[in-house]
Amino acid sequence: MIIILLGPPGAGKGTQATRLMDKHGFVQLSTGDMLREAIANGTELGMQAKAIMDAGNLVDDNIILGMIGERLSSGASDKGVILDGFPRTIAQAEGLDAMLAEMSLGIDHVIEMQVDEQMLADRIVKRAAESDQVRDDDTVEVLQKRLNVYHESTAPIIPYYKDKGRLSVVDGMQAIKTVASAIDNIIGGQEV
Ligand code: ADP
Repeated sequence: MIIILLGPPGAGKGTQATRLMDKHGFVQLSTGDMLREAIANGTELGMQAKAIMDAGNLVDDNIILGMIGERLSSGASDKGVILDGFPRTIAQAEGLDAMLAEMSLGIDHVIEMQVDEQMLADRIVKRAAESDQVRDDDTVEVLQKRLNVYHESTAPIIPYYKDKGRLSVVDGMQAIKTVASAIDNIIGGQEV
């Protein structure tokens, strides 16, 4: 099963992805985590990506597609995959479709987590305070830029998946547990 979690920064995608991984044994593929790992390891990619991420902009589509392609072709999809923070542009969504078609796979569910954007600044500040990972983009200033980028580049993929009949919406402002059961209902208790 392949599931995409979609929503603005702070919507709770990572929280729900981790929970789905623990409960259903899915593999979580978070492009943000992969990029932060590259930064922590001081790789060439990490060094290139850091400035882009810190400014709240998007890393190049081909780099992201390459990262995801590598994971999918190395068997990540066998266990069921939860994509968190990817795709973020129409080009990434199209690239993903092409990759999956080659593997005779398809997307099962795209779950849009809707949130009240007025509340996001509070969540991001809280996340920055609670996390032991240093994220230079988790500030109120960069959040505004990331939200603009979300509306401009990522939100257009919502109708893309709606047209394909894959889209479901959950209210991401509810308690974590309530959001979790809404997601479980969508995926229908299906195991991988
Ligand atoms: P959040 O879910 O809070 O927005 P992420 O960890 O998903 O944070 O992403 C952090 C940053 O990493 C993004 O602002 C962007 O610069 C980069 N990034 C992550 N995923 C992608 C992607 N699919 N395409 C382009 N850039 C990405």
